Amino acid sequence: MTVMENLLTIVRYDPKCRPEDRYPREIISPPNPSSCCTGRMERIGRMQTGEAGWPFFYKRCQICGYTLREFLGYEELAEFFLNRIRSRRKGLNGLAWRSWLKEVLAQW
Ligand SMILES: [Zn+2]
Repeated sequence: MTVMENLLTIVRYDPKCRPEDRYPREIISPPNPSSCCTGRMERIGRMQTGEAGWPFFYKRCQICGYTLREFLGYEELAEFFLNRIRSRRKGLNGLAWRSWLKEVLAQW
């Protein structure tokens, strides 16, 4: 593992330590997934940014604590932002909505 990769993940794969969720500081994970992991992986925390700015979520098995990074595909990413925009839209009147949208678009 390179230094760069170390900086971009908070997951520590350590067979000697008890698995622990210390998000957002550190997540201690078993080095390998087990049979329990299928279907029991849950996203934790906020969306993160990984290599080349690509977004991901930490995903952790509720049984054994195995954790990995789940990088989002284009479609899932679009869906994620659409959901955020939709829920934001609900809470704002027309004027506030337009100024929020303007602010968001200026960042792109
Ligand atoms: Zn598991």
